[in-house]
Amino acid sequence: MNDRMHIPFGKPWITDEDRQAVWNVLTGDILAHGPQCKNFETAFASFMGGDNHAATVSSGMAALHLSWLLLGVGPQDEVIVPAQTHIATVHAVELTGAKPVFVDCEAATGNLSAAQIEKAITPRTKGIALVHFLGIPCEMDAIVALAEKHQLKIVEDCALGVGARWDGKHVGLFGDCGCFSFYPAKHITTAEGGMWVTRDADLAEKAKKFKAFGVDRNFLERTIPGMYDVPTLGLNYRMSDLNAVLGVQQMKKLPEILRKRAENFRILKEELSRAGEKVTLLDSTTSRAANSHYCLSAILRGDLAAHRNDIISKLNSAGIGTSVYYPQPTVRMTYYRNKYGYDASQYPHAEAISDHSIALPVGPHIAPDQAACIGKKFVEIINQGSHEHGN
Ligand SMILES: *Cc1c(COP(=O)(O)O)cnc(C)c1O
Repeated sequence: MNDRMHIPFGKPWITDEDRQAVWNVLTGDILAHGPQCKNFETAFASFMGGDNHAATVSSGMAALHLSWLLLGVGPQDEVIVPAQTHIATVHAVELTGAKPVFVDCEAATGNLSAAQIEKAITPRTKGIALVHFLGIPCEMDAIVALAEKHQLKIVEDCALGVGARWDGKHVGLFGDCGCFSFYPAKHITTAEGGMWVTRDADLAEKAKKFKAFGVDRNFLERTIPGMYDVPTLGLNYRMSDLNAVLGVQQMKKLPEILRKRAENFRILKEELSRAGEKVTLLDSTTSRAANSHYCLSAILRGDLAAHRNDIISKLNSAGIGTSVYYPQPTVRMTYYRNKYGYDASQYPHAEAISDHSIALPVGPHIAPDQAACIGKKFVEIINQGSHEHGN
């Protein structure tokens, strides 16, 4: 306990077997849109369960952008977006020319609620960009009912939601499409990469063409090599087979990754409960929502709130890696503030998360006794009080 710890916030879990699998692809004939992308899609779709179609893409942001383009959102439209999320959720809307309409999150989960979304709906609203914040599922029955009532599209940002379920159904299968990220810091990684999912077979066909220049047949489907036509617009958002084979490998570890994250989260949460009212945690508020435990975001309350950065420094000095999700409400970021203006009073919960929270690690690189040490150190530091006297 007295020894300095060396615990990074995140650490991809890559084994020799994973490295060998990438090497095998690299020494073969097919490096892109080959069999490994198909294998990864099949494994991912089957993990999610239910009737769904999955398409590998080059990143989580690519999946989000592809979604809004396919759903036909454009310059005359408004899309409701969270004030608290990764900026990619909002950029994907903004890039289509549609207007993002920022909505504050709930204090307990960091998620949008159906009630808050409803207040922001106007005759021009075309969709909802939903984020399962840090892997905590949104209240999907209320939100889906609202979207049906107003005929709105839903794009689910599940970048931190691999393994998150609402009423047992995997996130990403409630809306029109679901978007996952495999950036190194996420639950599983392909270095860069993402997965786009939908329950709509026609939309899946369109997505598979749109992500590959809008070309009408892939190279396996061409009778004369090099010959194809282009019936629609498109872009290149494909994943390479080098990335995909890493994804295939990572899927084998996913159940264990989720178990370890859940266990570390539970241990940390228990330790932090000793901090009493000085700290609140973001977590599911109903047993219907199964958290995928990306991290444990602790929000400092009262006098402590102003000392967030001091406390982070002390944790880091003790060898505990931390992060902040996310460093500013999306609408407070310079680009959006300049374009749409910013009224802090409209986003108190998003502000509290950005300015007063500390994200603690729960990844599979952390053993259960280390999780307990992180929790004890955290409580020790906030109880020291020296930061309150400016030392
Ligand atoms: C990481 C992340 C993204 C972006 O994913 P990339 O694969 O890095 O493009 C989008 N949304 C959320 C919530 C994320 O955490």
